[in-house]
Amino acid sequence: MNHTTPAHSLEEVLSRHGVKPTSVRLLVWQQCERQTKTFSLADLEEMLPHMDRSSIFRALRLFTDRHLLHEVNDGSGHQKYCVCRCHDEHHTGHVHFTCTRCGRTYCLTELTIPHIPLPEGFRMQESEFIVKGTCPGCERKQ
Ligand SMILES: [Zn+2]
Ligand SMILES: [Zn+2]
Ligand SMILES: [Zn+2]
Repeated sequence: MNHTTPAHSLEEVLSRHGVKPTSVRLLVWQQCERQTKTFSLADLEEMLPHMDRSSIFRALRLFTDRHLLHEVNDGSGHQKYCVCRCHDEHHTGHVHFTCTRCGRTYCLTELTIPHIPLPEGFRMQESEFIVKGTCPGCERKQ
């Protein structure tokens, strides 16, 4: 048994977000969609060794623009991405947890970013919520 998502449903997701499902985009999306944590361009390059960096990067940009992915800046200096698991159309995103020991950034998809009551005149475009500490794996290794 393998657990890969059938190609037709990957295509459906892309089309639904206004992305023309080319073979490159499908391959990149297939990898993204499997991830439960955040990932970087370098991570995807490793998963897709036969694909060139700029094609992967262009696909990531497009997926981000079409709200298939969220961009995450975890302070590592590498742009990270994660699959949008928003339950509403606002695309507010979820809380992330960066482990200061292993450097992984986890998606806490059950925790939505709380509403921040901004002062008069400030208008939110996007927000990021990153909690730092130690993850369960590193905690056990102590
Ligand atoms: Zn989202
Ligand atoms: Zn850790
Ligand atoms: Zn995430």
